[in-house]
Amino acid sequence: MAVKVASEWLNSCSGCEISILDMGERLLEVLKVADFVHIPALMDHKYFGQQGDGTHLEIPQADVGLISGGIRNEEHLEVAREMRKKCQFIVALGTCATHGGIPALTNSYSNRQTLERCFATETTDANDFSPAESIPVFLDACYALDEKIEVDLYMPGCPPHPDHIFAALVALVEGELPELPGKSNCDTCPTAREGKGNLKQLRRFLQAPHYQSAAEPLDKMRCFLEQGILCMGPVTRAGCGGDERPPRCISARVPCRGCYGPVKPDGNQQLDMLNALASNGIDIKSLPEFTSLLRFSGAHQLLKPIPKQKEV
Ligand code: SF4
Ligand code: SF4
Ligand code: SF4
Repeated sequence: MAVKVASEWLNSCSGCEISILDMGERLLEVLKVADFVHIPALMDHKYFGQQGDGTHLEIPQADVGLISGGIRNEEHLEVAREMRKKCQFIVALGTCATHGGIPALTNSYSNRQTLERCFATETTDANDFSPAESIPVFLDACYALDEKIEVDLYMPGCPPHPDHIFAALVALVEGELPELPGKSNCDTCPTAREGKGNLKQLRRFLQAPHYQSAAEPLDKMRCFLEQGILCMGPVTRAGCGGDERPPRCISARVPCRGCYGPVKPDGNQQLDMLNALASNGIDIKSLPEFTSLLRFSGAHQLLKPIPKQKEV
């Protein structure tokens, strides 16, 4: 009998769902053994009955529940709780779900500041306003999934690579726990490392890294960090290149920004990166700011409004 799978997107951009589709023809293999009973990105299934005549939010029973996105408002929370109630096994899919992702950068601000910045300060619309009606009420912060419901499997990535989504679904259908990469990006990066050298300061982001040409093999290009360019590879979980390829940004000659979250699920990319810099002899004061070290992992109360921004 096919394993029932339900999928939900909360504070999500839908990139994780695109990654499910990016399994390509392998999706057909999955569909032979898995029955998607609920996946709003692809199937029209209404929360309150197909005619809108239901009295409460309802998601079908499923063996596996995939949830992308963190929890930012009361609707997300209600849907997440319903998924937990209806699914035997919950997978936090993507870094927004596992660590807050980019949306958790909002945790550096109060709700009022966030709304003002989105709808008033930064808008080019002369009739600026802050929406107050007909939208779900904000929670006080952007939460990772496991801060509100129990999670059985963490699958970070922005988005997780289709190879790993496929492997995880196949394993779960067979009743096994999937094995996900537990290394750092540096462990899978082919760039040339020559040792610490005399580098003491980070270079400005605007300065391009040194390499001969786009045709130069990656193993001939010196590691970004050794060139003085901030690269989050040491503190970021490997896997973005899938089973075969090096980290995606490194392949494009761009430093890693940390989108797979910390190497260990409970790691702190900010602290770990400051340690990595210090242990390489780099003065951490040469970093222009520290918040962006938590660009993808600011949930779990790692990013908070600074005290003077707090409102009564
Ligand atoms: S993890 Fe990335 S791709 Fe997935 S929902 Fe969040 S921002 Fe989108
Ligand atoms: S710091 Fe960046 S460039 Fe250097 S080895 Fe790690 S991932 Fe590769
Ligand atoms: S190299 Fe880093 S930022 Fe780029 S896709 Fe991979 S984990 Fe994400």
